[in-house]
Amino acid sequence: MKYDVILIRYGELALKGRNRDLFEAALVQSVKSVLRPFANIKVRRNYGRMYVELHGEDAHAVVERLRRVFGISSISPTVQVEPDEQAIKAKALELIRHLQPQPKTFRVETRRADKRFPKQSMEVSRMVGTHILRNIPEIKVDVHQPEAVVNIEIRAEGTYISCETIPGPGGLPVGSGGKVLLLLSGGIDSPVAGWKMMKRGVTLEAIHFHSYPFTSERALQKVRDLAQKLALWGGTVRLHVVPFTEIQTAIREKCPEDYLITIMRRFMMRIAEQVAARTGALALATGESLGQVASQTLESMNTINKVVSIPILRPLIGMDKTEITDIARRIDTYELSILPYEDCCTIFTPKNPVTRPKPHVAERFEEKLDVAALVEDAVNRTVIEEITAEPREAATDLF
Ligand code: ATP
Ligand code: MG
Repeated sequence: MKYDVILIRYGELALKGRNRDLFEAALVQSVKSVLRPFANIKVRRNYGRMYVELHGEDAHAVVERLRRVFGISSISPTVQVEPDEQAIKAKALELIRHLQPQPKTFRVETRRADKRFPKQSMEVSRMVGTHILRNIPEIKVDVHQPEAVVNIEIRAEGTYISCETIPGPGGLPVGSGGKVLLLLSGGIDSPVAGWKMMKRGVTLEAIHFHSYPFTSERALQKVRDLAQKLALWGGTVRLHVVPFTEIQTAIREKCPEDYLITIMRRFMMRIAEQVAARTGALALATGESLGQVASQTLESMNTINKVVSIPILRPLIGMDKTEITDIARRIDTYELSILPYEDCCTIFTPKNPVTRPKPHVAERFEEKLDVAALVEDAVNRTVIEEITAEPREAATDLF
C-alpha cells in the first residue's frame, strides 16, 4: 500500500486559547525534529489536525517515529485521491482489503468540508459501503462497534481516505512546559520519572552523581545509555555529570552510619539546585516512590527537601514498583536498568539507615563538614554531555 499523507490527531480537550497555540507550535517542532532524517516530507497544519506529506518517504518508518511524539493522540496513514466517486470507491476498497487481519465488520464515515463535491456525506458513505459489501464476501456493516472504520475527508485541498488508527502516546509536546532537571541514577525508577515529566511537555536535562573509582566507567555509560533512551522521546537530553567521590568520602569519615544516606541526598539536592539555576530548570525531579525504601518516607523527604527551595517533583510518588516496572519495560529502559553495575548509593548503603531522620539532627552532623565549599567544588567540576537520539541508533532500535 502506498500512502501519501500521515494524518495526526492531537490535543488535550482542556487546552484553550494561548495554551493551545503554544501546544501546537511545540508539537510542530517535535514532529519536524523526529522527522529530520526524512528530507522530502512536509508538515502542515489545518483546523486542529496535522498532516505529514510523505512525497515518497516510507510511511511505516515515519509512523514509528511519530509514536514517540508526546501530544499526538492518534495517527492514520492516509491516501490522497481525486475528488471523484470512482476513485474514492476503488481506493476505499483497496485500503480495507489491505488490513491484517481482515475485519469482519466495518463502517464508513465521510466528512464533506468542500461543498462543491456533488454528493452529501451520507450518500458518499452509503455508496462506498455498498461497493465494499459487493466486493468483500462475508464482511458486514456494524455502525456501533465496527472492527474497521473507513474515514473519508473531502476537503478543498484534497480528498483523503484512511482506515487505520494507530494510538499515539498522548500527553503534551516536549518544549511546551519549561525545563526540569532529573536526578538520573542507573536504577529502574528515575528514567521512568523522566519519561513521565517529558510526557507532560517538559524539556528534560539530567544530573548524575558519579563516584569514580568506587563506581565504574561502565556504571556511567549505563546512565548515558538510559539518557539516550529518553532522548528518543524528546530530542537531546543534556547530562550533567557531577564528581561525587570527595563528598561521599567526607560524609563517610565525619558522619554516623545511619545518617549517611540522608546527608548524601541533601548534598545531591544542594548541587542539583545550583545546576538547575545555571541551566534554567525551574524544578528538580526524582524517581522516589513513597515508602519504597528507608530514604523515601515522608520524614526523610522532608529532611531532604529542607536544604533547597526549588520545587522537587516526584512523579512516581503514588506508584507501586510493578506499575513503574511496566512502564520501564514499555519505554525499553528496564533491561538497561537491571544491569548489575554498582551505583553511588549501593556502595555506601549502611545496614540500618534511619527511616525517620530529623532535619536538626542532620544539620548537626553536617557542621563537621564544609558544606558550602564541597558543594561549590562539585558544581564547578561538573561536566555537561549532550546525549542525542542518534539517527542511526534510533533506526536500528526502531525498525
Ligand atoms: P532509582 O531506581 O531511580 O535509582 P531507587 O528506588 O533505587 O530509584 P534511591 O536509590 O533511593 O531509589 O534513589 C532515589 C532517587 O534519587 C532516584 O530515583 C534518583 O532520582 C535519585 N538518585 C539516586 N542516586 C542517584 C545518582 N547517583 N545520581 C543522580 N540521582 C540519583
Ligand atoms: Mg537507585
